[in-house]
Amino acid sequence: MAPGPRTCAHCERPIAPTETWYRFALVLQGEAEVLDPTGAADEPEDLLAQLEAFDPAELEAQVHEEQSGVLCAACRAELRAFLGLRFRVQ
Ligand SMILES: [Zn+2]
Repeated sequence: MAPGPRTCAHCERPIAPTETWYRFALVLQGEAEVLDPTGAADEPEDLLAQLEAFDPAELEAQVHEEQSGVLCAACRAELRAFLGLRFRVQ
């Protein structure tokens, strides 16, 4: 099967065959420390209240999400800048 026209996953702009594109694979895995059962009694209630604010699909995406696709050069630069900022905040 011949490859169709590529579209940037972020800006949705068609990427010309003469342009460089960037393939990405992203895994977002939620992690949390296990709640201490001897902790403050109101903490689980706070957690439940937070959980009820999400629908099930959104909640699942909060735990594990995988995305892949291609980015144009401009969106790749944006993503790199975004990640760079995040790393500096650490
Ligand atoms: Zn783009």
